[in-house]
Amino acid sequence: MAKLTEISWEDFEALGLEAKKPFLELPDGSGMPYHTLFAQQFDRNALEKLCALANRIRFINKSKEGALYLKNVLAHKRAMLYFSQPSSRTFLSHLAACQILGITTGSVRDAATSSEFKGESHEDSVRTFSSYFDMIIMRSPERGLAEKMAWELSNSERPIPILNAGSGKDQHPTQALLDIYTLIRSFENKGGLDGRTVTFCGDLMRGRTVRSLSYLLTNFTGIKQIFVAPKDLQVPADVVMILAKKGIDFEVTEDLKAATKVSDAVYMTRIQDEWDSAKGDSAKIDTSRFKFGAEELALLGKDAIIMHPLPRRDEIATCCDHDPRAMYWRQMRNGMWIRAALIASTFGFADTIMNCGY
Ligand code: ASP
Repeated sequence: MAKLTEISWEDFEALGLEAKKPFLELPDGSGMPYHTLFAQQFDRNALEKLCALANRIRFINKSKEGALYLKNVLAHKRAMLYFSQPSSRTFLSHLAACQILGITTGSVRDAATSSEFKGESHEDSVRTFSSYFDMIIMRSPERGLAEKMAWELSNSERPIPILNAGSGKDQHPTQALLDIYTLIRSFENKGGLDGRTVTFCGDLMRGRTVRSLSYLLTNFTGIKQIFVAPKDLQVPADVVMILAKKGIDFEVTEDLKAATKVSDAVYMTRIQDEWDSAKGDSAKIDTSRFKFGAEELALLGKDAIIMHPLPRRDEIATCCDHDPRAMYWRQMRNGMWIRAALIASTFGFADTIMNCGY
């Protein structure tokens, strides 16, 4: 088994994502992640296992007895939520997931309130957290920081797992997990997810959820991906390269209406203007044709769904909110269950929960 303790940071960093995967797995041979850093760690088997576990946790939690059982499963663990970028849903759903499993939590939500403000390095901060906690769930504006921290911790005397809750413009693996869980649930009684068409629309250039979900979708058979965006915000070359290499059918277009007509899922995203190099750059781009409103709703198939990682601005009109095909609210709640499943799996408790008497 590949071990982070047996490779230098420089050699590890230089590997491709798929080559990094074995270094990040649980030692039990299950192939499930110990450190969760990017979407490339999940194959179809891992996704199906996690979704089954999320369903199980969801079911067990329905009764008081079941909920109390779950609250005891990881009552001996503590998790640190280290978020140095704004977050509502990702923070709260991880917090709620920990609460479901009985994990005690601590948090830093703003580096200005931690010793980083006094000049402490990320490495020293994370090392400090590892002295008190058993897992670090971290969000950072820096691409690759979670990876570096995972390597650092694995090479420390307190090797605890890192869960990437969003890394810069790069990856958001747990959002992609909840998106896949939502897609699987939406189509489970309608012939499944294979062979579907998924459209991504909005700021595809800088939206990390798009990169992570686009990859996860390649684990399924015959899923076509359509990317709808203004030229300056179109899907980045690395995503296209992965699709081309894997022989995935995809299309790049500016026509949301045409894409909507043929889609089983339309995944809207907001303009990520926090990454503008000069303030107001995004506002100069005409995004008016990349919004989902009443006209698009009328074109959407009756079994198709509308998704959004949220937060939303005006890219989905509120008139869509009560349509049964609007899946973004349920998507949010699904995040709590799949994150609980991932955390339980990370601590090696997936089988215990799957096989419990509830
Ligand atoms: N909440 C998602 C993220 O953290 C999407 C967004 O912010 O637009 O990437």
